[in-house]
Order: sequence, then C-alpha cells, then structure tokens
Amino acid sequence: MLLDPIGRWNEELKRISVLGATGSIGDSTDRVLQMYPDRFRVVLISARSSWQKLAGLIRRYRPEFAILEDETAFCKLEKEGPFRGTHIACGQDALLQAIADVGADITVSAMVGAAGLRPTMAAIRSGSDLALANKESMVVAGSFVNRAAIEEGIALIPVDSEHNALHQCLVGGKREEVHRLILTASGGPFRTFFGDFSSISPAQALKHPTWAMGPKITIDSSTLMNKGLEVIEAHQLFGFGPDQIHVVVHPQSIVHSMVEYRDGSILAQMGKTDMCHPIQYALSYPERWTNEQHHFSFSETLDLHFEAVDHERFPCLQLAYEALQNPSSMPVVLNAANEVAVDGFLNGQIKYTQIYQIVSQTMQHFEGETVNELDEIFVLDQRARERASMNLK
Ligand code: NAD
Ligand code: MG
Repeated sequence: MLLDPIGRWNEELKRISVLGATGSIGDSTDRVLQMYPDRFRVVLISARSSWQKLAGLIRRYRPEFAILEDETAFCKLEKEGPFRGTHIACGQDALLQAIADVGADITVSAMVGAAGLRPTMAAIRSGSDLALANKESMVVAGSFVNRAAIEEGIALIPVDSEHNALHQCLVGGKREEVHRLILTASGGPFRTFFGDFSSISPAQALKHPTWAMGPKITIDSSTLMNKGLEVIEAHQLFGFGPDQIHVVVHPQSIVHSMVEYRDGSILAQMGKTDMCHPIQYALSYPERWTNEQHHFSFSETLDLHFEAVDHERFPCLQLAYEALQNPSSMPVVLNAANEVAVDGFLNGQIKYTQIYQIVSQTMQHFEGETVNELDEIFVLDQRARERASMNLK
C-alpha cells in the first residue's frame, strides 16, 4: 500500500514519473494529474533548468525525487529549499539512477530531443510502462526501444496525438487488414504562404495555428519536419513500411489521424486540440475515464478540410522518407542535424531555408553508415551534430 501526498493510504495509486515536467507536455500532464488526484502518486519529476517551476511542482506533489539537468539552476533550487521528503539532485547520472531506484509504474517521457533517449531507456529497464511523448527517442532508436519494451514486458503507449489516434484506430484491427496509416498535419503557419521562405523569422515560425507547444516542435511543425519525424515514429511504433504511411494536410487538427483498412473503410480518431486528451488516454489505457472537459461540441458549423502536402514548399517531409531507406542510421543523422539547425535558426545563426539544407547535406555526408548497437547511436548522433554545426555562423 502507498501513502499519497495528503497522507492517505491508497492501494489504487499508480506511481508516476514525469520526465520533462516543466515543458508544454509536462504542463498538460500536470493538468491531467490534477483532474485525477485519487489515481496517481507523482514519485519523480525532472527538467533541464526551469528550477522555479520545478520547485512549484515539488511543493504540489512532494515527489521522492526531483532532478535538474543544469547545475547552475540546481544551485538556485537548493537555496529555494528545503523540500522535505524530496531528494533533489542534478545531472544525467543522477536522473538515470533516480529512474532506476524509484520504481515507477508508469513514466511520461516528455523531454525534448534525442536527449530523452537514455532516460526513456532507463525507465523501460526499470520495468515502468511508458507514455511516450518524446518522439525523438523513437525516431533515433525505435528498434532498441521496442526490443527493451518487449524484454521488460512493459506497455508503450504513444502520447503524440497522431500516434495516439493511430493506436486507438488500430486496437481490435488485424495487422494484415490494414491498408495504410494516414497521419494528419495542420500544415503549420506557412500552409498558405507563397512568399520568400528565406526571410521567415523565428517569431513568425513560432506562431502555430492550432497547437500550443514547446519551441522546437513548433518550428518542426512549420517546416513539416515534425511530420517527417512522425512518419519515422509511426514506422517504429507500428511496424508498417514507409509505403504504407501517408500524410494529409488537415488545417483544423480535429481528425488526429486515420487508419484505412483493405476494404476501403477509414477509421478516424477525432477530438479537441488539447494534449491532455492523448495524455489521459495513455495514462488510463486500457480503460477510458470520464472527462466532461474533453467532450466536443457540434453546436457550431464544423468544416473539415483535407489537402495534399506541397512537397516543393515543404521539402523536409521527403527527407524523412529518404531516411527510412536506411532506417538504422539515417533517422539518427536526420534528427541530430535537425536539432542543430532548429537551434541555429532560433538563435538567429541561420535562415529558415537553411534548416532543410543543413539536414539534407548532413544526410548526404553520412550516407551508407549503419548502426548495430545502441551505443553506436550516441556516437553517430554526436558526429552528425558536429558536422551539421559546421554550417552555422
Ligand atoms: P518543451 O520544450 O516545452 O519541454 C521540454 C521539457 O524537457 C522541459 O521540462 C525541459 O526542462 C526538459 N528538457 C529539455 N531538454 C532537456 C535535457 N537535455 N535534459 C533534461 N531535461 C530536458 O517541449 P514539449 O513541447 O513539451 O515537447 C516534449 C516532447 O514531446 C518532444 O519530444 C515533442 O516532440 C513531443 N510532443 C510535444 C507535443 C506538444 O504539444 N508540446 C505534442 C506531441 C509531441
Ligand atoms: Mg504530433
């Protein structure tokens, strides 16, 4: 039996860790957890450097562990203490150890970038189920993540709204009866922009029309690289080849994705554009919990629009399909180069159009590489980052 934060014994409480607790997915997870205080006991939270926000979460949840990546931020957190009942620490080794020690029942993996891979693997190896938002870990190391999940017998439920939708549309279906997966894309802020893409500023690219998200994924959504990463993520999660994974632009973001079966029937998952929804599904699966806030209103006219992707204006998506021709190594290179390029763009070092150029050139440089071991992924990731960085000012 477990003691919850307000001192009641409750054998139903699930022990939950939230990695990347201070980000956009972290915020949505926080909202879901507050809706269901009788179901969860938060045992571990982590962040890179947002110490004030982490301090607030420590006071709210009184977790066993709270870990920051950044040492300077950690010193400030320490001064903010003491936090009775919570062990605070900093650095990746401390995080990996805490994940191993805490023994969570379920972990929300919501760090950003390939930096989420080691903690995600550590959570799986600790025997924790996984609510996976950190798509990059699936993109760069999907086969290793899958193998570890099978070996540990844990459930891996995607939080990314498209994959969460696909999960819902695939449950109960037969694999051989699936014709294709259809990922929807909002099209981002430049769907109807036909001007000079090289003059696009970070402020313009950070204005997403339908979703409120962290900066990296918002830029990825504007270039459609996010959809590219999601094509690779879908391939790794559900095991379908690139020829069975399609993308269609759907600006309203109400249909979160679809599965077309071989008889031509298309199952679509619809709902509000609120990440609390897929997070709740991942945390409650295989149950569904009552939530009045998620119910959709049809009281106003609702137009659903679908259109094909314009690959000329949004060439990044095609790079992901190219990467899947060499799935052990090229997604690692694509992702690393993209992380470097997006950072460079946000810091004013490169133009918007150079994001595609840098990723494409870095992929050409590493053509023919293969990866057999998990450790080789970290090495290739680092080499690709160094190569991509040579193109920054
Ligand atoms: P974010 O930038 O808002 O938050 C990232 C979180 O991870 C923060 O808590 C940050 O402190 C932490 N973090 C970042 N780098 C770290 C590091 N090196 N070490 C330790 N902690 C680190 O990002 P987000 O929008 O919440 O996205 C998180 C993940 O979820 C990404 O992989 C993204 O692609 C995916 N995702 C997000 C959304 C969304 O709506 N935001 C939707 C689908 C998928
Ligand atoms: Mg998504």
